[in-house]
Amino acid sequence: MDKARDHCGLFGVLDHPDAARMAYFGLHALQHRGQESAGIVTAMFDEEKGRHVMPQHKGFGLVLDVFNDEQLFESTLVGDSAIGHTRYSTSGSATNPANIQPFVVHYQEGNLALAHNGNLSNSRSIREALVARGTLFNSSSDSELILHLAAQSKDNGPIRRIIDALHQVEGAFSLVILTDDALIAVRDPNGFKPLALGRFVKPDGTATYGVASETCAFDILGGEYVRDVEPGEILIIDKEGIERMESGGAFDGVCIPRKNGVSQCVFEYVYFSRPDSMIFGEMVDKVRRKMGKKMAHDAPVPKRVKGEKRPIVMAVPDSSNTAAIGYVSESNKIGRKCKLDIGLIRNHYVGRTFISPGQESREFKVKTKFNTVSGVLKDRVIVMVDDSIVRGTTARQLVKMVRDAGAKEVHFRVASPPVVSPCFYGMDFPSPQELVANQQESIDKIAEWLGADSLAYLSVDGMMEAVEEAHDDRSNYCNACFTKNYPVPVEMGVEKDEND
Ligand code: SF4
Repeated sequence: MDKARDHCGLFGVLDHPDAARMAYFGLHALQHRGQESAGIVTAMFDEEKGRHVMPQHKGFGLVLDVFNDEQLFESTLVGDSAIGHTRYSTSGSATNPANIQPFVVHYQEGNLALAHNGNLSNSRSIREALVARGTLFNSSSDSELILHLAAQSKDNGPIRRIIDALHQVEGAFSLVILTDDALIAVRDPNGFKPLALGRFVKPDGTATYGVASETCAFDILGGEYVRDVEPGEILIIDKEGIERMESGGAFDGVCIPRKNGVSQCVFEYVYFSRPDSMIFGEMVDKVRRKMGKKMAHDAPVPKRVKGEKRPIVMAVPDSSNTAAIGYVSESNKIGRKCKLDIGLIRNHYVGRTFISPGQESREFKVKTKFNTVSGVLKDRVIVMVDDSIVRGTTARQLVKMVRDAGAKEVHFRVASPPVVSPCFYGMDFPSPQELVANQQESIDKIAEWLGADSLAYLSVDGMMEAVEEAHDDRSNYCNACFTKNYPVPVEMGVEKDEND
């Protein structure tokens, strides 16, 4: 892993005749949030059995591979509501099929299914308490704990049981939960992970609701973004409509209290989310472009020698494309003339490649993903733009490839600050020792290690100004992996488990 990774994408929809197919396309749009496994669970009443059931299909691989049999949607994933999950895993759990979500439990009052994005900070103590009560676990994931807490709750009714469970867990959690007749969407009180509410028109012309990690999952289905699920909010969607826990009604006042303020993950804007998505109430494209513009001031294009052609700015595709556009437009505005061009082509069809002995070098692996456009690079001053540098190993290979293609100089610009600390809130980061910013004693030394003529980063202030310009506020964001300012005390948040 050379980039920080989010763990999962979530999707849920209720009361739609094509619920499972919608989950399939929703997950397909969220594939970038997790590429190791995928699963869909539906809810239906089984006439033969005389009770509600939750059919499911899960497997390792991309969404298109896991659900490659059309019959699945006709004969297995039947029902008018569905939730889906696509995930990365930590290395220990990558091969254990029991860890693939959504999880399902059957208990005395019916069925519950759950899909989780995040990392519970008090999972160890909850697990110990459940073990002491004789609970048997199917997986090593902390997400399963929420289901057991709900199933064992002394409260009556599925919704009250789930609310009881949610008041016992801490940390980062965006959740979609399916009961036999309702869809529940939850964001933890800090709101670390995105989760949006969408509206869909059904074939009969009536409307229904769904939720997704990013709004690109609504777009593919012709749905409409309504709003974000708010930090600490529990939304219950059933055939009657939506009940918002905070605002009155039968479950008045049961939202999860905000003990540590709101701290949405700024890395979603830097890298994780798709630029065509709206997250935390703003388009990712807009914020990422602003980050590129700020970078033009913090990390400018190198000055030209008189008579030299304009430097070529090129993005490391695809996640840096948007920041590079903002960078070039602002650079030209402030008199640092440069030209945007495509110097690297990314192969989107890599998947798992079978590399023969002798081809194991990182250089070869990077070459399976990227190739240079030598006509663009030859004899030119090149400014490479990347969204972030975590370990830096891919960046180092790319610099070498660009040099080998004939670039006269290679300057590296990063549209986020140096990553100096891990994430305890569910993002998958290398250990602190593996972060290149910790391995090298200065930015010049990192540049030297990368093989670049110069290296410069967007400042923390520049990054937060970009967020502030888009939101009129910068206080509701976590930037701890850049600053070590953890919004939820690390003592509370360090139990990193084999979760989603
Ligand atoms: S530490 Fe970094 S990756 Fe983790 S939630 Fe905060 S900003 Fe996001």
